[in-house]
Amino acid sequence: MAEDLQKKHSSSKYNAWLRRRGVLNRIRHFHRKARRIVEDWAKKTSYEIVTLAKQHQYVVAKEDLTGLVESLRKLPKDHKVALLMLSYARLEFWIDWQCQKKGVPLIAVDPKGTSSACPRCDSRLKESGYRRLRCPKCNFEADRDTVAVLNIEKRALIQMGEL
Ligand SMILES: [Zn+2]
Repeated sequence: MAEDLQKKHSSSKYNAWLRRRGVLNRIRHFHRKARRIVEDWAKKTSYEIVTLAKQHQYVVAKEDLTGLVESLRKLPKDHKVALLMLSYARLEFWIDWQCQKKGVPLIAVDPKGTSSACPRCDSRLKESGYRRLRCPKCNFEADRDTVAVLNIEKRALIQMGEL
């Protein structure tokens, strides 16, 4: 909504919306609202994840997304990208915070290839339908998210010396 308002009140020569206090306030209002929604979501989600981990005496494993956040920073300033970047960063921040508060161990793994390597044999997976991947070597098949989760778990276990 902020973006639409901004486009509607922009010209190629100058940003007319910057001069209109009312429009600018509306745009700011939408930005603040979006940031608040992201913050609430990140707090709630991290609380649920870390509480569950504490109850079951699990370790929390995460991808080190610093690189991703940095690479998104280089993309053109777009509201969607900015919100996505903010979401990752805030979720990561609150998970760290919750883990420290509750004394839950947190492990960060290398994110490289977590959604393209076979969790069973490390071969490169091939596309197999919508968001699904298949291993040409060992026939393992799953959706992208499951593949990423299994790889993060595997890397965390290796780091902990459990594999
Ligand atoms: Zn495989």
